[in-house]
Amino acid sequence: MKNVGQFCESGYQRLERKGVSRRDFLKLCTFTCAALGLDLGLAPKIAEAAEKNLFKKPVIWMQGQGCTGCSESLLSSVDPGPEQIILELLSVRYHPTLMAASGDQAVQSLEECIAQGKYILVLEGSIPTADPRYCMVEGKPFLEEFKKAAAKAEIVIAVGSCACFGGIPKAGFTGAVGAQEVLPGVKVVNLPSCPVKPDRLVGLLLYYISQNTLPKLDNLNRPEAYYRFTLHDSCYRRLHYEKGEFLEDWNNPNTLDWCLYHKGCKGQETYTTCAKSWWNDGANFCIYSGSPCAGCSQPEYYEGFAPLSVNPKEGK
Ligand code: SF4
Repeated sequence: MKNVGQFCESGYQRLERKGVSRRDFLKLCTFTCAALGLDLGLAPKIAEAAEKNLFKKPVIWMQGQGCTGCSESLLSSVDPGPEQIILELLSVRYHPTLMAASGDQAVQSLEECIAQGKYILVLEGSIPTADPRYCMVEGKPFLEEFKKAAAKAEIVIAVGSCACFGGIPKAGFTGAVGAQEVLPGVKVVNLPSCPVKPDRLVGLLLYYISQNTLPKLDNLNRPEAYYRFTLHDSCYRRLHYEKGEFLEDWNNPNTLDWCLYHKGCKGQETYTTCAKSWWNDGANFCIYSGSPCAGCSQPEYYEGFAPLSVNPKEGK
């Protein structure tokens, strides 16, 4: 049985109970301010507003054609875990992978939340348009269910390349598209990359909930702060690019940190902060691990950039 005190605790107290200290939370808010180009002095205000409001925000998380990698990405992150922020402070009413309920109970939870309206709708995975049977949810076409949920949402967020622009499924035969294409007239906030970067989702949510508005978006509806510059602009291999030093032979240990352009790197066409904000609490990112950028935050990804091992301009 639940302790009655648990119903009275603030969003922050609930976080603290889960091991996220106030210092960690403030650090996250400061990081969010810095990433979104806000005055760092706003961090305590964002924290205060978020603490008051987060606990009340209902979230519906729908999954179309995808690999569940965006959910996995969120759950694997650390310090303080965005999954702690999202799962403990927001009220996630429906998430096909994470929710304990299943079958009729899960459908009922979804329908009740839709009936109440004013929730945050998150889409992971693409939407098939060639034939509704390519993706069904609870026996109904996913496209219809998604539109129904979007109609009463306060804000729609597409996470990951598939949900934003069609992503990998778009290269197939299902007519896969992103959320914006099936919701004309609705502003969908896009957070592309494969998978979504958890700090971007948490940053966007903290900003929206505390400021009651959206951050500045670019012409692809991506928060400008995260997608203003190309990866090439801040890549640590850039000096080698300028010197014309390109990695050609993976077996030559002397050139392993040279520019990956001749191995198909799409960093010049790809707008992202990947080189500044690494994965898993700064442990690594594609280029540092020796993988050329695949361009996953761009609408061209994957089909338009394939084959990924070929240089986009020189065909090398
Ligand atoms: Fe640019 Fe890619 Fe070379 Fe980095 S590895 S400098 S992003 S081309």
